[in-house]
Amino acid sequence: MTPADPQPRPLSAPDREAIDRVRALRAELTEHSRRYNTEDSPTISDADYDDLLLELRALEAQHPELAATGTPTELVGAPPSATFAPVRHRVPMMSLDNAFSPEELVAWGERIDRRLGAVSTPGGQLCCELKIDGVAISLRYEDGLLVQGATRGDGQVGEDVTANVRTIADIPKQLPAGAPRVLEVRGEVYMSAAAFGELQAFQQEENRLRINGGRKPSPVAVNPRNAAAGSLRQKNSAVTARRKLSMWCYQLGEVEGGPVFTSHEQTLAQLKDWGFTANPERRLVHTVAEVAAFCQHWQHHRHDLPYDIDGAVVKLDDLAQRDLLGSTARAPRWAIAYKFPPEERTTLLRAIEVSVGRTGRVTPYAVLEPVFVGGVTVTHATLHNQDQVRVKDVRVGDTVVVRRAGDVIPEVVGPVVDAEHAQREVWEFPRLCPSSRPVELVRPEGESDTRCPDPECPFKVAGQIEHFAGRGAMDIEGFGEQRVALFLDLGLIVDVADIYSIDWDRLAGLRHTISGWAAGALRSARERMGDPKGSWEETVETVDVVAAQPMGLAELLLESVVNDLLVEPSRLKSLASTLGGLADDGVANLQAAIAGTKDRPLANLLVGLNIRHLGPSSSLALARAFGNLARILDAPVEAMAAVDGVGTVIAESVHSWLADPDHRRLVERLTEAGLKVVSPEASALPQVLLGQNIVVTGTLAGYTRDSAEAAIVDRGGKSPGSVSKKTTAVVLGESPGAAKVTKAEALGIPVLDLAGFEKLLETGEFLA
Ligand code: NAD
Repeated sequence: MTPADPQPRPLSAPDREAIDRVRALRAELTEHSRRYNTEDSPTISDADYDDLLLELRALEAQHPELAATGTPTELVGAPPSATFAPVRHRVPMMSLDNAFSPEELVAWGERIDRRLGAVSTPGGQLCCELKIDGVAISLRYEDGLLVQGATRGDGQVGEDVTANVRTIADIPKQLPAGAPRVLEVRGEVYMSAAAFGELQAFQQEENRLRINGGRKPSPVAVNPRNAAAGSLRQKNSAVTARRKLSMWCYQLGEVEGGPVFTSHEQTLAQLKDWGFTANPERRLVHTVAEVAAFCQHWQHHRHDLPYDIDGAVVKLDDLAQRDLLGSTARAPRWAIAYKFPPEERTTLLRAIEVSVGRTGRVTPYAVLEPVFVGGVTVTHATLHNQDQVRVKDVRVGDTVVVRRAGDVIPEVVGPVVDAEHAQREVWEFPRLCPSSRPVELVRPEGESDTRCPDPECPFKVAGQIEHFAGRGAMDIEGFGEQRVALFLDLGLIVDVADIYSIDWDRLAGLRHTISGWAAGALRSARERMGDPKGSWEETVETVDVVAAQPMGLAELLLESVVNDLLVEPSRLKSLASTLGGLADDGVANLQAAIAGTKDRPLANLLVGLNIRHLGPSSSLALARAFGNLARILDAPVEAMAAVDGVGTVIAESVHSWLADPDHRRLVERLTEAGLKVVSPEASALPQVLLGQNIVVTGTLAGYTRDSAEAAIVDRGGKSPGSVSKKTTAVVLGESPGAAKVTKAEALGIPVLDLAGFEKLLETGEFLA
């Protein structure tokens, strides 16, 4: 330092904090990158990793003085592992910059326009592609022969996985005559959903055997991306071969000789001619608005694809323009990845509890540190059954991967195995029902489900009533889980038939009592605490405060009011708030909603009866075939089994359910309550669709999904959920499922629009 140099300023507290955080983030991200790229076993989700990276990027932007070479924000991947021979890439393999919102896409478009300025041709094209969730690969061909396959590594040096890529069916081993002397093709190796499903089933079965043999389960693949990376980087290529990997190509590396390419599209078309596979779901567009529409479309339809994507990639189509734009150290400027909101996150597993469903099935579920995933905050996630908990080996205290994909209910994919995992206690399935009737649970021999055998199990009863009132059955608006629980707690209902004879005056009296009690609680809380306002919510909050007091009002309330209502003290708060939410017009609406359901079709009533195996389509089939409930009650098993869509298992289940005198009595009470027991489905609609299988996909104006399917079934047809060789026609609405359309085209099945559908319903024939 010369005397002229400014003296270093003492660090202020925020600087110190920033330095420490930057240092910690760099170390943490480097370690995660190693685990992800080199070991194929990440310990946090990609979204969590991206959040940390964004935080580091923001700190580095705020504190340029903390710049350092080798910071994770400027690196591609991770250095290659010593397990494989190194391969130096002649043309670096880069990463991609990310956009997480349409605004960031627009900003990228503006940057491109600014940089290209005058040379930007109007009508310059953008190619939108899917961002395949796999692992990057570079294939090198010399004199038409595949000589090398290499992973990306750190972008400069990758790993030699030639023997493994040779096992991938999509990858040509030899190119046709006329191909360049040297050709490097780049793309993404991925595992299809089907191949991943097979692998998971195989690994779970292996673990079951291990557990039964007294050994520890081995970690199972948690998602297709990690499975693809792990399979590609196997020491033994026979293992890779079994894993059924695939590849989409999207770019060239080094090329010597052969045709000169001017555009991306032209490159992909040529690659296709040479035997490579390029993803067909791509689109050339001219504006960023069209790009955003492409991204939005695939964000909503990503689960229609038979493989995983985690976003879209947008690229300039013109290769000369790409050269003009060039790259940063990490990523090209001519492309950007639009990342979809994450469907996987890591979080803490706080507890494992079990719930008892309407059929008595006991399902373990995870109680999680709340985590935002798949567009919602998830606090609970299913663990399916006892074996799944054992096979996945999740333990309370573990960090776990939580997945919420599309409309699928959240699930715990597996634990992130850390040093403490082995010390945590293995979870034991409870022996007794967790309800207020602790009956011994049973797991029948050979079944994976554990059940509560108690017919009066409060959880079962509540579940059955919720099901009866739910969509697809009687669809009673405003009578969901909380209100059902409230009405059960207040003793206003005991079973489904009681819904039609609720004592509304008693409800009014109870509401009166409870509001008096709440007012008392509020007064007392005010005296003790100051000035909460008088709303129900706050009253309920104050009850908690009061309940926390050593003596006094809480006990008084619990004894005088709560005990009267036979409510568990722990249910007090939710009971009070549900009842509080039931205002006068709420009661009137509910009363009207219940009365309005007496006209629901017989099939809905059958669904609502909670008969094992009897679902919506078999209920409809029974209602249509027999026409009224009395005939179903009298029908012999054989007659029911003979109905198309019913069969022996369902027929026997229905028959034995109806043979139970308690069930007969229930049906009688429902009939006496005035429910419709004659089937409108048995109407005289011409059965023009007999023997036809019509698949509906997308939204059709004037129809809901259910009503479109009902229209088909009412005319004697079937409306399965997927396209197969047996499908007679596919009806396409707005935003249809891509996989269904592709399959229909591949199988040569006629495709109908709305007009064609309506003609079909009328005549049973397709429009010419
Ligand atoms: P990236 O995945 O965001 O994007 C670049 C990659 O996308 C390319 O290298 C290519 O392999 C792939 N790609 C897929 N489809 C493509 C297409 N049509 N065109 C071009 N490329 C396509 O970035 P990255 O540098 O590969 O890796 C970062 C990713 O890895 C992030 O998602 C990050 O969350 C994840 N990661 C996770 C952890 C962890 O611990 N969970 C650690 C490190 C990195």
